Amino acid sequence: MSRELSAPEHRRLLLDSVRDYLSQLAEEGLEGLPASEAIIAAGKTASVSKPRASAAAAVSSTGGSVRAAASPSPPAPLPAPGELLSRYPDLEKAASLEEVSAFIGDCKRCKLAPLRTHLVFGVGNPRADLMFVGEAPGADEDARGEPFVGRAGQLLTDIIERGMGLKRSDVYICNVIKCRPPDNRNPEPDEVAACEPFLMRQIDLVRPRAIVALGTFAVQALLKVKTPISRLRGNWHEVRGVKLMPTFHPAYLLRSPGEKRVVWQDIQEVMKLLGLEIPARGGAR
Ligand code: URA
Repeated sequence: MSRELSAPEHRRLLLDSVRDYLSQLAEEGLEGLPASEAIIAAGKTASVSKPRASAAAAVSSTGGSVRAAASPSPPAPLPAPGELLSRYPDLEKAASLEEVSAFIGDCKRCKLAPLRTHLVFGVGNPRADLMFVGEAPGADEDARGEPFVGRAGQLLTDIIERGMGLKRSDVYICNVIKCRPPDNRNPEPDEVAACEPFLMRQIDLVRPRAIVALGTFAVQALLKVKTPISRLRGNWHEVRGVKLMPTFHPAYLLRSPGEKRVVWQDIQEVMKLLGLEIPARGGAR
């Protein structure tokens, strides 16, 4: 039988959820949340109750972030795993990454198509033991047609080469979304739905021993959950029968270098699984 939470327990639970939500927003690149006119006005007339205002301030690292405590919009309905490839039944016939790429072709299946310079399919060893999955191409990737080649990409390459002692070409790197969303906004549900089957086929064909999912968006898209990455990272999950380790996105590490330590912990778990020797001091920290 569940007992009723005491007021302090209730408050702690609420603060934990708000803290998780704020760290998720921060990871998504939000550097501050403006208070709405109504809240500012309410604050000026002292009609916002003090405990709530101070709770929001206590979890905010940016100040003035009252609205961050509002609940997120409800998640979009997600397709059942079995539906992922059934969207394009012929995709299952693509027996190599080249055939998947040919199947995608000059894709016009979603509204990102007219905005892209290059479709960014993926690079690396088609038989890799390790696959990295990011969110979507940014400006540098769109310009070059290759995933993770900008500043975040350089950091990912450091993690692979200096941290793990592998070559970038030893692993396979791709994204959930193959075309750049305008202004690097989050991919939208219809764009994910159009693109996701290609990622599933890439996973099936590379058949890595482990996947590292980089950042909130990739993790949530692959695992079909809305749980904050701060709760998922560091533990093994599974997608299409492959072990999946969620960790923070390298772009987030550029803004929050203090988190490199926990990413290194996650990467060491991956190295253990792959039987790679862990150096006494990893290079990419
Ligand atoms: N961020 C991503 O998620 N993917 C890229 O390819 C580049 C930046």
